[in-house]
Amino acid sequence: MLYEKRDIRALSRDQLRDFFTEQGDQAFRGNQVYEWLWQRSAHSFDEMTNISKETRALLDEFFVINHIRVDSMQRSQDGTIKNAVKLHDGFVVESVLIPTESRTTACVSSQVGCSLNCHFCATARLKRMRNLNPDEIVDQVSAIDKQSKLYYDRPLSNIVFMGMGEPLMNYNNVLKAIDKITSEEGLGMSPKRITLSTSGIPKMIKKLADDGVKFNLALSLHSAIDETRTSIMPFNKNFPLAELMESLQYWYSKTRSRVTLEYVVWKDINDKPEDISALVEFCRSVPTKVNLIEYNSIDDPRFVQASETALNAYIRALESNRIVVNVRRSRGKDIDAACGQLANKS
Ligand code: SAH
Repeated sequence: MLYEKRDIRALSRDQLRDFFTEQGDQAFRGNQVYEWLWQRSAHSFDEMTNISKETRALLDEFFVINHIRVDSMQRSQDGTIKNAVKLHDGFVVESVLIPTESRTTACVSSQVGCSLNCHFCATARLKRMRNLNPDEIVDQVSAIDKQSKLYYDRPLSNIVFMGMGEPLMNYNNVLKAIDKITSEEGLGMSPKRITLSTSGIPKMIKKLADDGVKFNLALSLHSAIDETRTSIMPFNKNFPLAELMESLQYWYSKTRSRVTLEYVVWKDINDKPEDISALVEFCRSVPTKVNLIEYNSIDDPRFVQASETALNAYIRALESNRIVVNVRRSRGKDIDAACGQLANKS
């Protein structure tokens, strides 16, 4: 063959329709194929049983369906499942299924590795290799949906972009993926059940607001004091808190949706009264909720989970200022599947 076959999922629905008309076929064939690709997650043309053999052969001549392969699966004592997902070019990312009584959440990756260098996060140890394509993100979701049905007898209910990578550094592909996940021609999930977590890139948070997205936004804050935040999340130097705050206020003014602040409390880093007051102040400047996340060790002696006393001081201060606060216990720690532990160890 003289030319390389194209990845069919890089084509929009209109482009697929055009392909069929150019081939002297009817445009609606494009819709049928699109449905197989995005609604029924077909990984081969042979699965497309309402398409004739000849047409399937034609598709095979021009296109490939690049798809992920779940290479290995680990199951935690608490039921959490971690997948090592192999991409078509051999790179590996991780995705996690988190079951609770009432829901199944998929935690998906948006990049191979990460370019940010949060000192407490294991993914930072992997260089950023490349962005994931929309189909590679959607495939993680459908794979976890299948696992949820198989092991927990119910479909996937929620999605969080809290796996490897910074989703706002892969903006277009992440938004395209969410579009496929939420649209009726795709998986038809509600955007209200999707949360994108970002380390906080002000310009992109404003862009989300301008683009009128309907999903939830979470921000990994960890400190409301610039100096402290920069010492653990070095990119904060380029996007200081004042600028971040302005983007959050902009987000709220456009979406009326509260941002969730993710916050880990570490001994001797952010467990002092001044850290607490700074967070309270931050929360008074824009409507938010706070999730206090348990620290998952990545074997770095600088980071140690703060005491119960420090955590309670945070909770008291937030609650007395009528700020909603939740404490999030880790899931899947025994298999390195918890927040910040995804590093392709196995
Ligand atoms: N890049 C995005 C999404 C990936 S991280 C972001 O920064 O939000 C998902 C969440 O896990 C973030 O809130 C992150 O700060 C947190 N996290 C990272 N390492 C952690 C660790 N070792 N223990 C607990 N949470 C961690």
